[in-house]
This record gives sequence, structure tokens and C-alpha cells, in this order.
Amino acid sequence: MTRLALPRHTEQQESNQSQLMHGLHSLFAETTGSPIQNAFKKRGSHMPGSASKEVPEDERQQLFARLKTQKRQGPAVMYLHVPYCANHCLFCGFYRNKWTEDSSAPYTDALIKELRMMADTEAGQSAPINAVYFGGGTPTALHAKDLARLIREIRYLYPLAPDCEITVEGRIFHFDDAKVDACLDAGANRFSTGVQSFNTRVRQRMGRKASGEEARRFFEGLRDRNRAAIVCDLILGLPYQDDEVWHNDLQTVIDLELDGVDLYTLAVFPGSPLSRSIEKGKCEATRPLPEQGLMYQHGLEFLDQHGWRQLSSSHWGRRTRERNLYNGLVKSGSDCLAFGSGSGGNLNGYSYGVTGDLAAYFDQIENGLKPLSRIQAQDPLAPALNELAGGIENMRLDLALVEAAHPLAGGFKDTALQLLENWQAAGLIEGSAVIKLTTAGKFWHQTLLTNLKLALRHHISLQPS
Ligand code: SF4
Repeated sequence: MTRLALPRHTEQQESNQSQLMHGLHSLFAETTGSPIQNAFKKRGSHMPGSASKEVPEDERQQLFARLKTQKRQGPAVMYLHVPYCANHCLFCGFYRNKWTEDSSAPYTDALIKELRMMADTEAGQSAPINAVYFGGGTPTALHAKDLARLIREIRYLYPLAPDCEITVEGRIFHFDDAKVDACLDAGANRFSTGVQSFNTRVRQRMGRKASGEEARRFFEGLRDRNRAAIVCDLILGLPYQDDEVWHNDLQTVIDLELDGVDLYTLAVFPGSPLSRSIEKGKCEATRPLPEQGLMYQHGLEFLDQHGWRQLSSSHWGRRTRERNLYNGLVKSGSDCLAFGSGSGGNLNGYSYGVTGDLAAYFDQIENGLKPLSRIQAQDPLAPALNELAGGIENMRLDLALVEAAHPLAGGFKDTALQLLENWQAAGLIEGSAVIKLTTAGKFWHQTLLTNLKLALRHHISLQPS
């Protein structure tokens, strides 16, 4: 491993450096023991101290109307949210509305109206859209004909790139052959399904309706059509998921010859059904963080042995069909046109949210308004923060690009040097000009990103104003 060379400092720099070190020490990792198990005591959060600025409610519509008249530049994605679920899965913090069969047509009509409001504008038309993602909730709860008309409408209204990735996320329950074929015929080319585990007991205890065997048959049916990239999500650390269950989950993904897999570590949301159930002793505890680290390591090594390529810290592809385009672009800060109740996007230096209140959503769409719940001027540091996020997502961070992304980020590498040396000593990163994440670094990637963002803010706070 290349060691990082310490730079020489002036007196003022040394004084700043000492203040900084005081702050940065809290971001250091444990350098003894197994890094994947104990480098940090807990995981970092997604949004450490954002400096984005809220636009007052009475100015939102006017501002959004102006943003629509501006050209987009660079790669962009589109996100559509379907905020309904058949039931609240025990581990999930994203449940919003109970699905009923008569929700499909009115919600699809509203989404199509919302899509049309932006289609014929500069923001809608000025540059290609590289990836479209239907997320939720449960997009595949929508009826076959509604899924088809949504996908067709997007392809008709917006300038999708010729190689645009069009993903429909869903769950096995509800997702029948007619819906699969309707999506494919309309132009979807990727399915991402949250299976979480193929073990029937684990699935049922987490509120999943289909058995492990039904889940396997479902994926075989998708795979055998050979018309789209097939991706499944596994969660590691679930209650009742011992090492044998975890190994079998991984083996099942290999045997099914899917195109992609996500390995997510379980996050228990405070107040979620899972946390309440564990507190009341109705459910086994989740696997502790050090054990989750070992489960991740086993997953990474097992997929590697079977020739799968790691595309991000949590995502693998088997063949070139799987590109993981949407996730890569959105995590590195590309513009994102967002539609649907509960969605959120970015456009020309602002981030915005669409209301999660369904009644308000329908009402405002009916009145021809974008149902905005917030608009924020993006953090002035966003270009540098996005470089950090994109680099960590790619497991390969070039700090020269971070420094070049914002004038105030200049010199950040020198400032962060002792932090980076600590992480090297802890076995989380390696390399010098370009930092590469080790297996342990990949497991702790969210914490590394959070801490780098905090270090960058600290670096800027120490500069003369
Ligand atoms: S895991 Fe998916 S289907 Fe289950 S509650 Fe969460 S969003 Fe809904």
C-alpha cells in the first residue's frame, strides 16, 4: 500500500490544522482488530449537515415555472413514485398508503397529467434522459394496462436516450405475467425486485407474502423471457437469517443466473414495525453490525468467486447487460425529473419534493399545479459533495476532482491527510493519488462518505472569509 506523504505547513496552516485535527478525530476509525467488524461503532447518515436553502412556500410555483424554462445540461434521470403497498413489510420505513385495486387508474391518470405538465418545456426537452426508474411503494401494484400506458407516455413525451435504462421496481406479490409482458412490450428493459431473502420463514416473518419457492419460480419466469436485465435485492442482517440462510440466499442468486444483485445491510428505522416487534419480544433480534460485516464479506467473496463484477459498494452485475445506470447517475448528483406523490428530484441547482399527501397531490394535479412540498436551493458545495458521493459510490475516489469541483475545496486533500492516513491504517482504503476502498471500506462506504462530507465542511470553515 502507498503511504500518503504529509505536506509542509506554514504557521497559520499549522494552527488551522490543529483546530481541524480536533474536529477530525471524531471521524477516525478504530485501527486495531477486524476493520469490517469494528472500524466504527455505527453507520453514517445520508445527509450530514446540508446547507441547502429552503424556498418559501408562496414562491415555489413561480420558481418551478422558471426552472422549467431553463435548459438541462449533462446526464439526467427520471423518477416516478407509486406510493402504495399491499401491506407494511416489517423492516420497511417507506410504507405510505394501503393499495386498493381501484387506486390504479386514477393514480396513473394523475401521473400522466403531471408528466404532460413538464414535457413541452426546455427542462423537459433540452437534453436526453439516460435512465427512468419506477420506484415505490410498489409500482408493480398498478394494473398491466396502466403500467403500459405510463411507460409509453414517457417514451412519447420525453427525449429518452437510445440506450435509456427503463427500470420497473416491484415485489413478487401482485406482479403477474400480464404485468411483466405489458412492461416489456411498452419498453421497460430492467426489473428490480426486492426479494430480501429466499428463505420462506424469513420472508414470512418480515411480512412477505410469496414463499421462497414462489420467489424462485418468479425469477425463473423473468429470466427465461430474456428481454430485460433482472435484478434482485437481498438484505443482510435480518432476524432469523443465520449464516446458512444467508449463504443459501447468495447461492440462489447464482443458480438463477440473474443479471444483477444488490446486497443491502439492514437498517432498522426507529418506530418501524420491526423495531416495535423486536422491542416487544415478538421477533428475534437483527444480526449485530459486526456480524453484518462478515455477512457482507462472504457475499462479496462468493460473488467474486462466481465471476460477478462489483459495480458499486452494494451492487453486482453478472454480465454486461446490467449497467446500474440510474443509481450511479442519481448518486453523483445528476438532474432528476421527479413525478408522483412522495417523489423527490433535482433540477438546475435546486432540489424539490412532491407532496406525500395523496389528497393534496390529486387536488393540485387537478388544478394544473406541480404538487410541490418543498424546493431548496442546493448546497453551494454540491459539486464537490457530488464528486465525493460519486467517487465513494464507484469505490474509487479522486480527490483532485473534488478539489477542482469547487474553489473552496482547494487544498482539501492536504487537510484530510491525517484522516486518510488513519483510514489506511485501519484497512478501509488504499492508494494515494486515487483512493480505493478495500472490502472493509466498501462495507463502511456510507460512513466514509458521511465523514468525508463533514471533513470537507470543516476544511471550508477553517478558511479565511
Ligand atoms: S418493502 Fe416495498 S412493498 Fe414492503 S412496505 Fe416497503 S415499500 Fe412497501
